[in-house]
This record gives sequence, C-alpha cells and structure tokens, in this order.
Amino acid sequence: MKFTTRSEQLFDEACTLMPGGVNSPVRACRGVAAYPLFIEKGKGSRIWSVDGDEYIDFVMSWGPLLLGHSHPAVTRALHEAAELGASFGAPCENEVNLAMAVRAAMPHIEMLRMVNSGTEATMSALRLARGYTGRNKFIKFIGCYHGHGDAFLAAAGSGFATLSIPGTPGVPPAVVEETLLAQYNDLDMVRELFERNQESIAAVIVEPAAGNMGLVPPEPGFLQGLRQLCDQFGALLIFDEVITGFRLSFGGAVARFGVTPDLVTLGKIIGGGLPVGAYGGKREIMESVAPLGGVYQAGTLSGNPLAMAAGLATLTALKSCDYAALEAKVESFCCGLENLFREKGIAVQINRMASLFTIFFTEGPVRNFAEAGSADRERYTSYYQQMRRSGINLAPSPFECAMVSFAHTDEDFAETLSSVEQLLF
Ligand SMILES: *Cc1c(COP(=O)(O)O)cnc(C)c1O
Repeated sequence: MKFTTRSEQLFDEACTLMPGGVNSPVRACRGVAAYPLFIEKGKGSRIWSVDGDEYIDFVMSWGPLLLGHSHPAVTRALHEAAELGASFGAPCENEVNLAMAVRAAMPHIEMLRMVNSGTEATMSALRLARGYTGRNKFIKFIGCYHGHGDAFLAAAGSGFATLSIPGTPGVPPAVVEETLLAQYNDLDMVRELFERNQESIAAVIVEPAAGNMGLVPPEPGFLQGLRQLCDQFGALLIFDEVITGFRLSFGGAVARFGVTPDLVTLGKIIGGGLPVGAYGGKREIMESVAPLGGVYQAGTLSGNPLAMAAGLATLTALKSCDYAALEAKVESFCCGLENLFREKGIAVQINRMASLFTIFFTEGPVRNFAEAGSADRERYTSYYQQMRRSGINLAPSPFECAMVSFAHTDEDFAETLSSVEQLLF
C-alpha cells in the first residue's frame, strides 16, 4: 500500500495499534471524512504536521493553549521543573503556588484539589456533591460534556455528539438513571425536574457557556435562575469551567456573569498543555474530601511538579494579557466571516464569546443542542476539508468551539478570511 503523506502512513500503523488509530475519539477525524494530521511541532498560533505542512491552528489542543503553542515562559518553567525531577508523590511548593494563583483569580474557590484531567475533576465534584448532600440524582444539560465519567454519558456533547452515540455500552442503566436531563437555556424544564424529584437532587452541573455542542452562550437570566432553583431545593450548583475557566475572563465565567456556584471544575488552561484538572469551591463543602472528610478521592500523579510548573507559568502570563482586546479582535474577525458567507449566499449562525466561536451552518439562532443539531453537517465537512487544504486547522467536528489564543495575529485572521473567501460550496 502506498501513501501520499507521512500522516496517512502513521495513521495506518496507528490503526493496527489503537482503536481507531487514536487515544481520543474526535481526533480520528471520522466526522469530517478525513484522516488525522500527525503534528510534529507548534509555535504561537501555528502547527506543523509531520508532512512539513504549516497550519494556522484554531484547535489549540482543544482549549489549554490560550497563550499559544510552546509559549517561552511555559517551556522555560517545564525545563526547570524537569531538571529537578518529574514526580515525587509528596507535596511540592508549586502546588501551593498554583492553588494560590487560582484562588486569587477566583475567590469563590476557597479550597481546591488538583487532579489529572477534566474528567477526574467532574467525577470527583459529583461524588463530593452527592456525599455532601446525601442525595444521588443530579441534573445535566443535553449537549453539555463533562468528560467520560459514567454518570455523565447520557446525551453528552463533544465526540459523543459528533459520533451520534445515544448512550454507551458498558455504562449500566442504573448509573445513568440518576442523571436527569434538561435542555440548555430552559429553566422551566429544570424547575419541573426539581419539583418531580423533591429532596433527591444533589446538584446541577452546567457549562456556564456551553462549549461542547459548538459554542452556546447562556441566555440572560439562565445561570441566575439555576442559582435560585438550587438554593430553593437545597442542591449544589456546579460550574464546569474546564473550557471557560481563565478563558471567558481571567476570573472565568463567574467573573463574567456574576453568578457564584458552590463548586467549580477546572482543567485545560490551568495545566498549560499538561494533564491537569481541579475541583474546588466553598470551604465547608471541600472539607468533606478525604483526608478531612469521608469523600474519598486520590491520585498518584495529582499535583505533579511538571504540570504545576506549566500551569503556574500559564496563569502568571495570562494575568497580564488583555482579554478585552482579544475579544474585540475575535468579534471583528467573526463579522468578517459572517459577511463572506453572506456574500456567498451560505446561511450561517456564528456564536461567539471571548476567544471562542462556532460557525453553525444553519439559519440559526442556536440556543441549545436541538438547534445546534439542525446545522448542515455535510457543509461543515466540505468547509473543514477545504480550509485544511488551504492551511487552516479547524476542529474536525461541527460540535466544537474554534479556540483563539493570545498568539493569533492580525495576519492569521486575514489569511483565514482570504481562505474563506475562496471556499466553493
Ligand atoms: C474537555 C472537557 C472536560 C473533560 O476534560 P478532559 O481533560 O478531557 O478529561 C470536561 N468538561 C468540559 C466542559 C470539557 O470541555
């Protein structure tokens, strides 16, 4: 068998070694009828494939790289930490420093626990909410993704939505029976669930701006309404800020929307590209976690020195970044995109917030998963493939956010617009 590219050759080999040739499903690019690019290196807003091709990147490792690829301060911190040793299984100073940096930016996180991924953070936060309230049920929103923990794998977003998986074999029905589903931005549905399940709902977990069905911002009053319902029915409100934390603003969604949850989950950006997650919130609740309390949760590599160093360097650099300026750039870029599609007579709805945006190929508006699902998938596939051929790397799925970083330049936006101008549908 002869291959045109090194990426294809590697993928062929990978497919004999790993399910679908990948270690995370959406990377396989099945949703856009393509083979994945194998990436050799990244710098700033750009990545280079093993085939030697250069791309402007709008995936940015799916969110962690708000500073861009291989940011000098992060790379330096990693080098220094690596020289001292990769892991000790004992506390290190940067665990304290990173926890302080998080709490300084997000004062509602009075205490936190570091873990190794967003999945671990949400699983642990849910366990804690259940342990603390003594209740088992919880509410999640259709199209929101909270990692691959069993309880969350009902009507989830991200790769789950891309691959049209309704449920997952291997998750016992009894586990998801406690998972109550509501439509995003629909407070009446949440109220109804609370009324029908009095005294048995431990928590509502929500992406404060949904980023795994494409970007779907909260409508005015939605998050406030969730806060009020949780208070009324004695449930905890959990913001899954794995994407939005340190992205919607330095203080995350809480600073942006002014609604304070009881617990928060973080990931992606706080690891600066290394595997990190965290959950935290009110001291009284966090004190239920072992060894202070009975809710068990642990991790051999949690608080890992390399991950802490990368996270701390990232937050330190982000602290002096101009979020408003980046948002203004993304806004004018999205206006440019909208105009180009309009000129072509292609219906699009572009949802946008901070450095996130999604182009939905639909007449729109897109306020929930049902509306996101109305977007034209074939058109997205064609868009993805054409953009990739012209050197723009997009998420290989219509149900993801485009991620912009502080490293993206005016030239990057201009080049991307000129690629869109040349699209043929
Ligand atoms: C990515 C993501 C997760 C899962 O994080 P992993 O590090 O992939 O386990 C959880 N919640 C949200 C909102 C995410 O976007």
